[in-house]
Amino acid sequence: MTGIDTPTPEPATQTSVCPGCGSVLAVVPGLAGTHAGASASCAGLFAVTVRGLREEAGQDVRAAALLQVSTDAYDAQHLVPGAPAAAPVRLALARERDVDPARAAALGSRVDDAAPRDLTPPSRWTTTVADLAADLDVVDLPTLVRAWADAVWADWAPAHARLRAAADTALTS
Ligand SMILES: [Zn+2]
Repeated sequence: MTGIDTPTPEPATQTSVCPGCGSVLAVVPGLAGTHAGASASCAGLFAVTVRGLREEAGQDVRAAALLQVSTDAYDAQHLVPGAPAAAPVRLALARERDVDPARAAALGSRVDDAAPRDLTPPSRWTTTVADLAADLDVVDLPTLVRAWADAVWADWAPAHARLRAAADTALTS
């Protein structure tokens, strides 16, 4: 036995690249995908990160608003090709038209109808849910979520004009 060809056993951590936000995350065995356009690991990480907000949202309007902003930021990074880009339009409503996130969500099908279906998402993202989770020990969640939504909206810059137009259509239709 020479041992020359014997590979050194690597720690068996498999990773996957999220098709939406590009996060490289460990594959968690048995975790099923829970979000279209996202890897199962990424969707799972988002669910864990906002679990506290989800639990408080029923009693706390600020938690509910923050949950909505988080969901819009996450969805805007995980669009399904060919589906309406509703989440970036909701970001436009909240950030550029001063529409309360809950009301932007309540516009529902009007946003879906107005949202473009042919947008090319940014190829790189400044901040992902993986960055958010990594910073949670040192920065509080509301601050992180707002910075994340700012970054996601900024990353969508090439489509801002169309997203603003769609936001206005959703408000006036
Ligand atoms: Zn992702």
